[in-house]
This record gives sequence, C-alpha cells and structure tokens, in this order.
Amino acid sequence: MEKILEVIDLRVYYDLPQGSVKAIDGVDLDVVKGEILGIAGESGSGKSTLALTVSGLLRPPAKVVSGKVLFNGVDILKLKNDELRSIRGSKIGMIFQDPNTYLNPIYTVGFQVGEVFEAHRGGSLRKYLDEVVKLFKAVKIADPERRVNAYPHQMSGGMKQRVLISMAIAGEPELIVADEPTSALDVTVQAEIVELLNEIRDRMNTSVIFITHDLALLLEISNRVAIMYAGKLVEVGKSSEMLKDPLHPYTKALLSSLRYERKKKLASIKGSIPSLINPPSGCRFHMRCPYALPKCSQVEPKLVDVNGRKVACFLVGDGYGGSDKSH
Ligand code: SF4
Repeated sequence: MEKILEVIDLRVYYDLPQGSVKAIDGVDLDVVKGEILGIAGESGSGKSTLALTVSGLLRPPAKVVSGKVLFNGVDILKLKNDELRSIRGSKIGMIFQDPNTYLNPIYTVGFQVGEVFEAHRGGSLRKYLDEVVKLFKAVKIADPERRVNAYPHQMSGGMKQRVLISMAIAGEPELIVADEPTSALDVTVQAEIVELLNEIRDRMNTSVIFITHDLALLLEISNRVAIMYAGKLVEVGKSSEMLKDPLHPYTKALLSSLRYERKKKLASIKGSIPSLINPPSGCRFHMRCPYALPKCSQVEPKLVDVNGRKVACFLVGDGYGGSDKSH
C-alpha cells in the first residue's frame, strides 16, 4: 500500500524554564493513502504535538530535536516557510478543535474560505464565491447561498466546524490532519461531522489522521489506531483487532475505562502521565501498570511487530519487547 506520510524516529521537545519537555520521544509511524489513522491517548501523551509537527505548524518553544516527517517522500521538517505554506491547504488540510481560534470574527465565512482558493489558485476572491457555495453544500451547511455572507458569530459551533472542514478540503488535500475536531460539539453533531469526514475520504481518497482522546469514537471510524503514552507509541494496529483483543496494558486500561464509562461507573486509569521533563526509566507506563515486572522500571521495551500489530511491552510477543533479552 502506498505510504503518503512516514514519521521516522521523531523527537520534539519544548524548552521551558523548568527543563526540556520530551513531548514526542522517538516515534515511528506511517499513513497509507485513503486510510483513516486514529491517534489516541490521554492529555499530555504527545498526540497534538504530533499533529502540529505533521502540519508544519510547530512554533517555539517547541523544537524538533531529531527525526524526519516524509510527506510523499519529501521531509517537511526541512522545508522553508513559503514551501510549507504552499503544502498546507493544497496538500495537507487541518481541522482543529476550536473553530473560533481559526475563524476571523471580522470577515464573512465565505470570504475566509474563498481566500483558500485564492491563495492556491490565484485570481480574485469574487470568482470563487460559487465554489464556496458548492463546498458549503458538500459539507451540508444549510442555505449555503445565504450562509457565505454570515460572520462566524452568527453560526452555531457545528456550523463553524463545517466551515473549517470546507477550508481544509478547499485545496483537495491528500492528507487531512484533524485534531480533536469534534470534542467541542454535542453527540449528534459529532456523529454528523464524523460521517462527513468519512464521505470526504471516500470521495477524494484523502488520508485522514484523526486525533482524539475518545478511543471509542476512533475504533469506530478508523482503519488503524495508534495509541500514544507519554511521548511514545505503545500499540499500533487495525481498529477491529484492537477492539477485540487489545495487547498493551495501557490500551486494555483505556478500553476497560470506556466500558466502565458506559456503565456510568468510574472512568479513569489509576495515576497520571509522568513528568516528561524527567520521564521515568524503563517502560514509561510502569508506575501505573498492574502487570509490571521488576525489569520494566529499568529497561525500555521497543515497539515490535506481533502478528501484524506493533506493541511495546515485555509481556507481549517474544516476551522481551525486542529489547534487552538478558533480563
Ligand atoms: Fe507493563 Fe512492563 Fe508491559 Fe510496560 S513493559 S506495559 S510496565 S508489563
């Protein structure tokens, strides 16, 4: 299958006065054409930093310490700002959690979507108005001819998110990075937005990276899911297999907390994500893991292939996580 994105041994740190936060610390991941890859994990797992890096939107104090992000074979980490700008929008579209942050309150939404066409195709904004109306129809904005003249404050949260989606797909990108695109929406609108992203993927064969803390949603809509914990990937595999048989103890804990949540019982995993300024040695999950072995606090398990799934745990596969076999 054709890979559209390859993340290779990526490390992204935030330099803060208190120390260097190792938000992403050695991540390898790929996205194939036309798939929805879900990325899940608690807050602080590094998933949003990954979204910003892949979109070329990382800003200080974040810095890429090492690694590559190959988009169609080109390392976007080496591109200049103007080269990045021409890829963003036309080849990589982004949808973020809070549309209010990305929509300018003083311009109509039609103007703002038209600007995307103008930036990528040139010419005057006026000539794109019909295309914006078509796009609004495609993302199911009611009464699109009238809505193009609306200002963001005149629209509901769900409508504004649809405007952001239309901005993201205006350039017919090959990859859409959606970071918590439905978290601020109620459940009904959330389902509609997810269905819309699915339709766009089917129609345009676009790849989608869908990032959320909502593992239930991800397992439903993604072809594959990657689970992040404290700056590292701990499990990557097909959604259907992971739902049936999670292998990593953290994935198991996330899934069982979901099941508790459905029964309206306590929905949490004991403890919290460790400090990423001085991350623990060994497996970063060891302080919360009910199955931890003595060596788990000393030796780091590697992400290894286990029957087509990738897992970083000493209890899975050959029992050594592909790392130090002397223990
Ligand atoms: Fe638990 Fe050890 Fe596996 Fe980490 S490597 S998840 S601590 S058993």
